[in-house]
Amino acid sequence: MDRTLVVASNNKNKIREIKQILGDIFDPVSLSEAGVVSDPEETGKTFLENAIIKAKAACEASGKPSIADDSGLCVFALNGAPGVYSARYACAEGEHENASDEKNNEKLIRKMEGTDDRRAVFRSAVAIVWPDGKTVTAEGECPGVITHDPRGNNGFGYDPYFLVEEYGKTFAELDGSVKNIISHRAHALAQLKNKLAQLIQTEGNI
Ligand code: IMP
Repeated sequence: MDRTLVVASNNKNKIREIKQILGDIFDPVSLSEAGVVSDPEETGKTFLENAIIKAKAACEASGKPSIADDSGLCVFALNGAPGVYSARYACAEGEHENASDEKNNEKLIRKMEGTDDRRAVFRSAVAIVWPDGKTVTAEGECPGVITHDPRGNNGFGYDPYFLVEEYGKTFAELDGSVKNIISHRAHALAQLKNKLAQLIQTEGNI
């Protein structure tokens, strides 16, 4: 049986994480391994809408079940910003390329100057879309606070400023193996796996 699951990404870390979690159900492959190009505009207003847009586009391009995730940082004092614009936060209006992590972090810290409420949450949505239109989705989150100064060298994006209070460490200070258990993406993927297991039980197959 063909167990191919196209991951709507060429990011090696993301594909490894998805393989680790869903590898006993699917054979996850990258877009390039599937021989397709898919880069739809992320026009959704929520992480879930964007995850579905990306999974659907990869499914239409490949003809195979496809998975996508969309994630970002939501800061309480900024009314949920940067949210779905996390990768493009420091971009000028109308600009389509993502901004650098450095520029996004610089804008975040500037916007939070003088703000005592430092609460934030990383959110992630994942979606699998099948060629017949069947769609399974899940969401996860990880709460934390925004630090004033960067700490740590691991990770990417907003990691150096995102402190997980339970560990007293930023995402960039935590070992990758710990982040991969407590992160928003890990929680979303774990919930997705539960939903898939339930489907397999009720439908016999997926
Ligand atoms: P994507 O949905 O994985 O492409 O992530 C969108 C953007 O959200 C990234 O470019 C980062 O700026 C931010 N982001 C998402 N997840 C993380 C994370 O685990 N650490 C740091 N930044 C993240």
